[in-house]
Amino acid sequence: MKLTDYAAQLLQEIDAMGTRKNERPLLSPQASQIVTHSGGQAKQAINLCANNYLGLAADQRLVEAAKVALERYGVGMASVRFICGTQDLHQTLEQRTAAYLGMEDCIVFSSCFDANGGVFEPLLTADDAIISDSLNHASIIDGVRLCKAQRWRYHNNDMADLESQLKAAQSCRQRLIVTDGVFSMDGTIANLPAICELAEQYQAAVMVDDCHATGLLGSRGAGTPEMLSVEGRIDILTGTYGKALGGASGGYVAGSKAVVELLRQRARPYLFSNAVPPAICAAALAAIDIAEQADTARQQLQANAQRFRHGMTSAGFTLLGASHPIIPVLVGDAALAGEVADALLQRGIYVTAFSYPVVPKGMARIRTQMSAAHTEEQIDQAIAAFIEVGRIYQLIA
Ligand SMILES: *Cc1c(COP(=O)(O)O)cnc(C)c1O
Repeated sequence: MKLTDYAAQLLQEIDAMGTRKNERPLLSPQASQIVTHSGGQAKQAINLCANNYLGLAADQRLVEAAKVALERYGVGMASVRFICGTQDLHQTLEQRTAAYLGMEDCIVFSSCFDANGGVFEPLLTADDAIISDSLNHASIIDGVRLCKAQRWRYHNNDMADLESQLKAAQSCRQRLIVTDGVFSMDGTIANLPAICELAEQYQAAVMVDDCHATGLLGSRGAGTPEMLSVEGRIDILTGTYGKALGGASGGYVAGSKAVVELLRQRARPYLFSNAVPPAICAAALAAIDIAEQADTARQQLQANAQRFRHGMTSAGFTLLGASHPIIPVLVGDAALAGEVADALLQRGIYVTAFSYPVVPKGMARIRTQMSAAHTEEQIDQAIAAFIEVGRIYQLIA
């Protein structure tokens, strides 16, 4: 069979499962209210599915910072970092990120996907063990696959199971516990205090991927370690500039000087891929400056999340998660979740349905995400639309 025919056959299977993902172009910047197409017409909608937690994605301060850097440094580096792709901006961003997170040092990658893809292999060998949460992000799973370490997996946030895996891995040279700080399909937060306790008891290191926390959780937005008071007990912290910290791109690994320097020497996505464009670095730097001082935005974000949770729970919806602006609305059936999302867009509410294999079978959901940029009116409009659609599809009485 020709390769292209084979691809077409796989696409048919995807369609038969009802899991084809169709991209919806936005005609506006990323914001709490966006313009998209619906039935051939431009349509305004309240956006409840971006990772734009602090509303910085189209913020003029970031745009200005990027413009200045664009004029001063040009569009890009045409080089990897170690050949001639490092500008002072790259180093400033690394130092600034490390200081913000309270870590010794930091190395910037093109994305957090690359950071997670490159972090394990230089540090761990077949004599070592990675003990990974079952709900960790795909990039962690891939990074683990690329490294020869032995693999143990524990049930999501299950500390008894983590302890038994740590016991089983006792004979390994190094043990590294790896977890997402926030489990993004559920809107739940990793039990870092217990993880750190176990790590100390069983002499393991701890790595946290804080993509859905940096900028928004913790008193300064430094993420789950700050929120849960385990600063200084996390060995490796990875994250992204592509969510709360501006929403452009770039990711990082923060850790000790030795860990970061080893990654500079050996991490393959760093060594063999172009440097992050200077304008993006400048925008990320501006985002950190704003995020560090964003107490008001973080309060607004929490207030919005509470308002939505309260309104939806009162209306009878089943919500997942807690203490995070990711608020999944449980639907159950995959096809139904898709129909509910479409019906909401008809009413000017943009949401995305998630179903198997991203979440367990029968647990399809609409994952909503609040932003500090949403107004109370927008939140209330969203709740009203959910109630209307929820009645039609009998999600609520
Ligand atoms: C979004 C995300 C990533 C990927 O980050 P990018 O910078 O977009 O590549 C990695 N891990 C987690 C937990 C994420 O949520």
